[in-house]
Amino acid sequence: MIISTVGSHSALQILYGAKKESFSTKVYCLKGKEQLYKRYPVADQIITVDSYSDLLEKKYENEEIFVPHGSIIATLGKRALDIPIPMIGNREGMYWEMIREKNLELLNKANIRTPYTYKPEEIDKLCIVKFPGAKGGDGYFLCSSYQEFEEKIGELIKEKKVSEEEASNAQIQEYIVGVTMYPHYFYSPIYDRVELLGIDRRYETNVDALGRLSQSHSKISPTYTVVGNQPLIARESFLHKLLDYGDLLREVSVDSFHPGLIGPYCIEMALTDKEIVAFEFTSRIVAGTSLYISGSLYSKILFDEEMSMGRRIAREIKLAKEQNRLDDIIS
Ligand code: AMP
Ligand code: AMP
Repeated sequence: MIISTVGSHSALQILYGAKKESFSTKVYCLKGKEQLYKRYPVADQIITVDSYSDLLEKKYENEEIFVPHGSIIATLGKRALDIPIPMIGNREGMYWEMIREKNLELLNKANIRTPYTYKPEEIDKLCIVKFPGAKGGDGYFLCSSYQEFEEKIGELIKEKKVSEEEASNAQIQEYIVGVTMYPHYFYSPIYDRVELLGIDRRYETNVDALGRLSQSHSKISPTYTVVGNQPLIARESFLHKLLDYGDLLREVSVDSFHPGLIGPYCIEMALTDKEIVAFEFTSRIVAGTSLYISGSLYSKILFDEEMSMGRRIAREIKLAKEQNRLDDIIS
């Protein structure tokens, strides 16, 4: 049996985890990106593609299971749902992830507080303006008034950094001043349980570098382009809440897109001194899980072995296959 993915985002970890569970592995790479997967021995097959759209036509091998991640969502958008290779997880969840309104709707259904959203004319406090897709914060900007919004979005359109369509679909959210935290969950149909396997926080440029400047330079506008991830251990008393949130989201997802979230998912949140506020959920592996290729505090206690998210996915596939239950974990 083969586990495959596309070569970027969290591919090294996914493929390494698959090998640990004795699967063959395959990586679909954009032309010119093969080197990484030649230098690190994780892929039994490296398939070069001209664009990720080629995956839509790809003849897949029998017994191949594809692991979707942020890169295909960022590049293919809704077309990612049409990849003909069986995928771990529920592809309907990826649709809910991509449509920002649906994304917030699911969080709200789970009674998880999300930032207030505004129409441009309503902006009366510090807001962040976000664009569709898993763009890793690219192009996001801050503004505190309608006029400032119009000026800044006009500039982005003029510089062709944002299309007219993206601009009209921009989401304007209350800016949450808090510590970002990205808990990594895994729902296992085999064990019928939600597991919290790790937590990371993103390192984003330049917003995470601004703290090194004095207040007198505070005119520099923050940007939110993700460059990497840092490990994070939550205060233990927060864990109850983080576990509750993971359970609640999984529960409401069953009604919204049956059979609900399957396998890896994440809730992107910020903790203020008063509350937890979630920006969005993801319905697939997040790249911050790669920090824990040898396991995290939480996965170590649950499994007493080096259990990364990539390996956890492979383990679930292995167990499902042994029990003739592959249909419960793929879509
Ligand atoms: P890439 O394939 O690296 O271009 O990533 C595709 C998308 O996944 C990016 O646009 C980001 O939204 C997201 N992404 C990639 N790497 C990370 C990371 N280390 N942490 C969080 N998000 C990431
Ligand atoms: P997203 O595309 O929603 O994952 O957001 C990318 C990054 O923008 C997050 O990791 C945060 O640093 C920042 N961000 C998004 N939404 C908010 C918000 N409402 N308040 C503060 N920061 C935010």
